[in-house]
Amino acid sequence: MPERLFVCTPSKLGAYADCPRRYRYAYVDRPAPQKGPPWAHNSLGASVHNALRGWYALPVDRRRPEAVAGLLKGSWVRDGYRDEEQERAAFRRALGWLESYLDGQEPTAEPVGVERVVAVKTGVLAFNGRADRIDSRPGPSGPELVIVDYKTGRTGLDADDARGSQALALYAYAAERVFRRPCRRVELHHLPTGTVAGHDHSAESLDRQLRRAEETARDIMAAERAVTGGDDPDDAFPATPGTRCGWCDYRRTCPEGAQTPGREPWAAVERAD
Ligand code: SF4
Repeated sequence: MPERLFVCTPSKLGAYADCPRRYRYAYVDRPAPQKGPPWAHNSLGASVHNALRGWYALPVDRRRPEAVAGLLKGSWVRDGYRDEEQERAAFRRALGWLESYLDGQEPTAEPVGVERVVAVKTGVLAFNGRADRIDSRPGPSGPELVIVDYKTGRTGLDADDARGSQALALYAYAAERVFRRPCRRVELHHLPTGTVAGHDHSAESLDRQLRRAEETARDIMAAERAVTGGDDPDDAFPATPGTRCGWCDYRRTCPEGAQTPGREPWAAVERAD
């Protein structure tokens, strides 16, 4: 019998790579342990992503600067902020990011995909993921696709972040096969600084990232089999505590992570005030 394919998204692979125990809490234990409260920075990121999706859904003649505030207001996620004052400050900041970012974008450009799901199967995994945006740009032998990922975190990003991102590489690998067009360029668009960190992959570097993802998938399947076979789930999915525990949704469930002080849900947006 062929082995079943491991169905995965970038977040699923990323969770295991960060901390196998976190993966277990999120994807294996049922009923799943209760998560902590929602994070304001996730709300802020989701609001900005929603507004950008709304922008590209507008007819070209309505993609005007005055539309941005309405889009952001209509897609605003309120969870996790300390109070209304902090939420209002975050709204103003996000509006400034969007206005300045969209001012630099060609309003008539039609991406090939916006929040577009791309999927691909290999001998080991069935990958699917939602790319923030897929652009088409002229290349030496015709149009080529570019994976664009929006970022709203506090710190800027550089070319190493774009090169090392497994998620971006897997999107590119999948998009190339879904659209049957070359897709080697990946870009992180950091809204707060208005900077773009990009990397041009080769077929080999995409392949390397894919092999790494398959290795992770094999490790996860082996850990799941071990638990089914009676191993202690804590051993099969070890905790890898670190500073990230303060931001982990499962810190209150996890004995190792509980030793790290938890962050307030709004801590990441407060630092940016
Ligand atoms: S609290 Fe830390 S060790 Fe525990 S699951 Fe989360 S990231 Fe892993």
